[in-house]
Amino acid sequence: MPFVSTRATGGPVVSFEKALLDGLAPDGGLYVPTRIPAIEPALWRGAGSMGDLASVVLERWVGDEFELGTLDALVRDALHFPIPLVPVAGGDYGEETFVLELFHGPTFSFKDFGARTMARAMAYFLRRRGRRLRILVATSGDTGSAVADGFAGLDTIDVVILYPKGKVSPIQERQLILKRPGVRALAIDGVFDDCQRLVKQAFLDPDLAAIPLSSANSINIGRLLPQMLYYLMAGAQGGLVAPTFCVPSGNLGNLTAGLLAYRSGMPTRGFIAAHNENDFFPRRLAGEEAAFGPSVATPSSAMDVGAPSNFERVQWLLDPAEQRRLIRGERVDNAATFASMQAVYRETRYLADPHTAVGFEAVRRWRAAGGEGPAIVLATAHPAKFVEIVEEALDITPAMPAGLAAFLEGETQFDTLPADYPAFKEFVMAL
Ligand SMILES: *Cc1c(COP(=O)(O)O)cnc(C)c1O
Repeated sequence: MPFVSTRATGGPVVSFEKALLDGLAPDGGLYVPTRIPAIEPALWRGAGSMGDLASVVLERWVGDEFELGTLDALVRDALHFPIPLVPVAGGDYGEETFVLELFHGPTFSFKDFGARTMARAMAYFLRRRGRRLRILVATSGDTGSAVADGFAGLDTIDVVILYPKGKVSPIQERQLILKRPGVRALAIDGVFDDCQRLVKQAFLDPDLAAIPLSSANSINIGRLLPQMLYYLMAGAQGGLVAPTFCVPSGNLGNLTAGLLAYRSGMPTRGFIAAHNENDFFPRRLAGEEAAFGPSVATPSSAMDVGAPSNFERVQWLLDPAEQRRLIRGERVDNAATFASMQAVYRETRYLADPHTAVGFEAVRRWRAAGGEGPAIVLATAHPAKFVEIVEEALDITPAMPAGLAAFLEGETQFDTLPADYPAFKEFVMAL
């Protein structure tokens, strides 16, 4: 399958390997496939595992670049954790509403799906070429730990994670600074935007051109393709006919994965893009002339994105009229997020983290407006990852899963750097 930049009009056509290892296209656009394979639902409906799904679905997207059997083995190895589809019928959410829990991976957010699969695919190509890669990743929380965990111990790749010191939740920080082979954590004296700026500057720095650098955020197509699989898994597990998917969204990577699955033939009545106060996309869907802006801080911090990078892929996939027909946008403000955590618990006894609660509120409004048929809310993080907010909203402390509690014990390692480029550059060069 050849890939091309969202911005290219007849520009260079590259392999999946190159799109994956480079991340961003040279013209600043995002890589997208040159065609979308049509996949009959009958082919995947009976699939029992992510590996089975991969051997049918991903095989048709990028299978030509992998030796036979390696792609599904890679997915089986990356995604061996459960993906429960939990019914949460009741109250304002309707009788046919479900949550798809995407937070049972090693770092307890859905970012594990993309990060773990991408890490193994990168390692596969690098090993074949005898190459090495250094990944720089700026994180506001969940991406960093998923990438650190997913890439740790791969002998062809080392990783540098930059996070804003004191600006992630205490458990997220422990997840980031856990000592792992091949991973260095940098606590930057600044905010998330500083971390991102340092990474961008490093990519453009001619002095670092000799170091093969790449990134691991959701601009990378390698993160999005495996995320299609859980959409299909949800339909396969529940036997649901054309469900509506509600996606708590920030950078729109998760939604884009759903749209790719839809374009490839997944039956659905549509999508709900549930955003917090960072409402660029809902405003666009409402026909407003919204522009990218700075992000605002909310209780669903992993969705605090003022300039969603995957909007460019959404535009490439669907024209504005199709977007409005297929996607309902919702903005859920901070007060409504807290109220939603309370209402979901009161009416269904389901304990939703703040990101998932934004999704529930969007579903509630959609039902009130006459939304029919099965609905699936994608649960993007475990509530224990945001224990302070759950306590504030509900006055209860979510049980900490053993795997998450383990992060509180292990040995830690990190360096602290000021938010200025020379210090960061020196660090990257000295590695
Ligand atoms: C990253 C993240 C999101 C947003 O996903 P996008 O793909 O950026 O839209 C939502 N919830 C949680 C918990 C996340 O970590």
